[in-house]
Formats: sequence, C-alpha cells, structure tokens
Amino acid sequence: MYRSRRLLLIFLIGIVIAVFSLHHRNAIFDTFGVLVNFREPAAMSSPRPVIVVGSGLAGLSASYEALQAGARVHMLDRAPKPGGNSIKASSGINGAHTRFQKAAGIAKDDAFYDDSVRSAGRRFSQDLAKVDRARLVNTLTERSEAAVNWVADEFGVDLSVVAILGGHMVPRTHRGAGKLPPGAAIVSAIQKKLTDNPGFQLSSLAEVVSLAVRDDVVMGVRYVQDKQTHDLDGAVVFAAGGFAGDAMGMLAKYRPDLAGLPSTNDDRPGSHGILEEVGVEFVDMTSVQVHPTGFVDPKDPAVRYKFLAAEALRGEGGILLSDEDKRFVNELDTREKVSEAIMNMPHSKETGDSRQWYITLLMDPGACEATAGHLGFYMWKGLMQKKKVKELSPAAIEAVDRYAESVTKGKDDAFGRTNFGRWRLPAGEANREEEVCVGKVTPVTHFTMGGAAFNEKAQPLRAGRSRSRGSGRQAKSRAVYTATTDLADHRF
Ligand SMILES: Cc1cc2nc3c(=O)[nH]c(=O)nc-3n(C[C@H](O)[C@H](O)[C@H](O)COP(=O)(O)OP(=O)(O)OC[C@H]3O[C@@H](n4cnc5c(N)ncnc54)[C@H](O)[C@@H]3O)c2cc1C
Repeated sequence: MYRSRRLLLIFLIGIVIAVFSLHHRNAIFDTFGVLVNFREPAAMSSPRPVIVVGSGLAGLSASYEALQAGARVHMLDRAPKPGGNSIKASSGINGAHTRFQKAAGIAKDDAFYDDSVRSAGRRFSQDLAKVDRARLVNTLTERSEAAVNWVADEFGVDLSVVAILGGHMVPRTHRGAGKLPPGAAIVSAIQKKLTDNPGFQLSSLAEVVSLAVRDDVVMGVRYVQDKQTHDLDGAVVFAAGGFAGDAMGMLAKYRPDLAGLPSTNDDRPGSHGILEEVGVEFVDMTSVQVHPTGFVDPKDPAVRYKFLAAEALRGEGGILLSDEDKRFVNELDTREKVSEAIMNMPHSKETGDSRQWYITLLMDPGACEATAGHLGFYMWKGLMQKKKVKELSPAAIEAVDRYAESVTKGKDDAFGRTNFGRWRLPAGEANREEEVCVGKVTPVTHFTMGGAAFNEKAQPLRAGRSRSRGSGRQAKSRAVYTATTDLADHRF
C-alpha cells in the first residue's frame, strides 16, 4: 500500500515536472544551463554550450550551424543589440555561378577567384609561410554560390538583384528588390530563426574579457555583464569583428597614416588582444580598407561616424565629381584606387583634425530608379537631394554631358569605365529638365582585412607554426574558431 502510494506520488511529480518543463524550457535552460529540448533530441547530448563571441553575421551564421549540428549555443555580445557592423551592410553578398546571376543574364562567371587575387594585390604573395592564401581565396570563391543559396533558401532572404561593384568583371553582388538593405535583411532573418530555437541563448551587454585556458587548451571565456564577472565553459567561436572603428586605439597603432579619417564603423575598441594573449598569430594588420564614399551630412559635416554611400550607387550608374565638378576616376575601379584618387587631391581645411573631402556623387534618373530602395533612406536623412540638371554648375553640366556621350558610345575614353549601370540620361539640352540625385561624399575607413591567421576551416594559427609543417596546425585549443565573414566563409 505504502509502496503504491509512493509510486503514484513519483508519477504525479513526474507529470508536473514534464508539464512545467514544456512551458518553461527556456527558463530552465537559462537557469541551469542544461538543455531541455523536446524538439531537437540531438541537442540534449550537449551539456556544454558552443560559446559564440559576437553577434554579427559571422557569429549568427556560426550559431545557426552549431545548432543544426545538435549543439546548444550561448552567444555573448557587448553591444545592447545584436547585429554588429553586419546589420549596416548595404550593397550585398558576392557569389559566382548563382541562379540569380543566371536569371539576370550572366550565364558564366569564372572570374571571381582572379578578381579577388587582383584586389588583394601584392599581399596575395606575402607571408605564405603562415597562411595559405590561395586555398582561402579558393574556399571563398568556390563556396560562394552555396553561401548565397544558403541565405536565400534557409532564411528566405530575397537576393534576386545582382549588381556589378568595384573590382568585379561581371555583376555578382546580390541584394533584395525591396527597401530593406541586405545586411539588415540577412541579420534579422537569421536572428529570428535563432531566437525561435530553444537551444539558443543571447546575452547582450556581455563583454568577453579573456579566454579561459587550462593545460594550454582554451576551455571557455570570462565575460563581464552588469559589472559582474562570469566564467563560462565551452567550445569558443570568436567572431568579434574588426577594428576599423577603433580610430584612436588599434587603427592608430597599425595605420597612423589613417588617423583622422571618418569611419562607417561603430566607435568601439578591437578585441584582438584577447586572442593575442593565447598566442594567436596576426596577419595583414596594416590592411585597412578605405571606402571612397561615406556621406558628408550637410547638417553635421564634421561628425566622425558616416553613413556609407553604398557602392551600388556607383555600380548602377553614379559618377563622382571633384570639388571643381570634374570627373577624375573610373568610378568602378577598386575601392583602393578610387579612394587613392580622392585622397591625392587636397582635403578640406574646415574640419580641423579630421581629414575630409567634399566629392559630389551624382546619379542620373536611371541610376536613381535602380537604387530607389537605398535612395529613399538617404533622401529622408538629408544625405542626397534631387536637382534638375539645369540647376547644376556649368562644369558639372559639362561633366554630365561628356559622360552621357561615353555611355551612348559604350566607351569612356577619359577614364576607361566599361560598365555604365542603368544610366540613361542623354547628352545636351534634352537633359536639362531631368532630375538627378546628388550628395557629398568623402573617403572613410570601412573595414580591416587583417586579424587572426586561420586555415580554411577557420581554425586560428599560432605564432611560430607554419603551414608548411601541415595545413591546419591550429592553435592548441579544444575549439577556438575565428568566424570571419570576409574571408573564411563568405556568407557575407
Ligand atoms: C556600413 C557598412 C556597410 C557594409 N556593406 C557590406 C556589403 O554590402 N557587403 C559585404 O560583404 N560587407 C559589407 N560590409 C562589411 C561587413 O559588414 C563586415 O565585413 C562584417 O559585418 C563583419 O562581420 P562580423 O560578424 O565579423 O563582425 P561584426 O558584424 O562587426 O560583429 C562583431 C560583433 O562582436 C561584438 N564584440 C566585439 N568584441 C567583443 C567582446 N570582447 N565581447 C563581446 N562582444 C564583442 C561587437 O559588439 C559586434 O556586435 C559593410 C560594413 C559596414 C560598416
């Protein structure tokens, strides 16, 4: 009798726990760090989380893949909201041989590898003992179609519009046809799927300060949240982004010549010191991309943080005019070359320590229509205005007419531009009543290409170990991965 009552009691307690768990599985997960997951049994076998440092596209993509593989994920980001700099990306994601290219009439695209090598310039053949650049670029370009498909199919993101950007032989930068810029579209879609998954936990305002190392193996992280220090055990994916926004810290240290340039990045210190402490090797720290076109806001021209004037604006037909309203460059040359052409001209003296230029970005009605998704935002922010051609300076009208003639001829004798985007404005009196879109732009630091040396599996390499002693001689660590969207995976 006593025994059967006890069994009944255990049975009832079991039912209560089961019902409670079904309703409160996230709370249980948060409190005890044990996954109670009724939908994905594979995740139950993973008591230690995969710790993802950084909630940009690299961190979000890595988290999704870890969840798919049956792990549970604890993401930490020091920012109040997820998305990092990735959420600002406005031109799109590169991919070769994609179905979207084919639908846009680009039957073949065999030039992605060569374009990337050309863009890398002399760096491609430097430091080969540490990093197998050819293999990395191959991974980047060969897997780009799958990456574009993954974003489109797995998360339902529209990537149907394909544009040609600087340094590309053919159009291969994918974005959506709607108003949402691609960075925000991709970040929000992945984030939604992650937060729907009970195996995922995000801690915001949680700054990782060091890696926990035991017996020379990385075992987890130490982070600070609400002034409290926490230690978390687990495999670590380090996806903390670059240092372009660290203007007075890492940027000034590695590229003092760029001190004073405005930036499109959040103003935040780099986190590379955390990896440096465990002996990770760094490469290309002086390789900082300067983007030629950050908007100068007429309401606050001196502010250091600038909105990016997306490359698509030039890709779809926009031209650049100097402060004398003359064209001076092939607008679709590499960002490096276009930035260099601007920075070879004298900068404005009005902005004190900041080095800033006032270059005009001008788009004809064809380019304005093709970039309507971006343009609405820029006009709303007061960064671009519409003007009739007849309201431009005589020098600007002459530049527009000359360029329109080149488009008609299909040949830009002055600067060798070969793709004219959607420009349709004719030359001469016929265009004077037409409206063009204009804004002022200046070069800005945009992203850093250097960082942790890693192999094609995104495993960081330690100082002193060379590729020639075996590809994949990663830092001695159970699992520290750098997730970098720029090189390792090209999800973005
Ligand atoms: C305006 C703009 C437009 C761009 N447009 C494009 C584009 O169209 N196409 C393209 O391919 N690329 C574009 N880029 C570049 C691209 O956005 C970056 O290469 C990409 O965002 C890098 O992603 P990430 O996940 O590595 O880093 P991020 O997105 O910067 O994320 C890093 C995250 O790590 C967090 N973090 C850093 N340190 C710590 C720490 N110690 N503890 C906790 N959290 C930490 C940060 O808060 C941040 O949220 C653009 C960049 C900018 C700024």
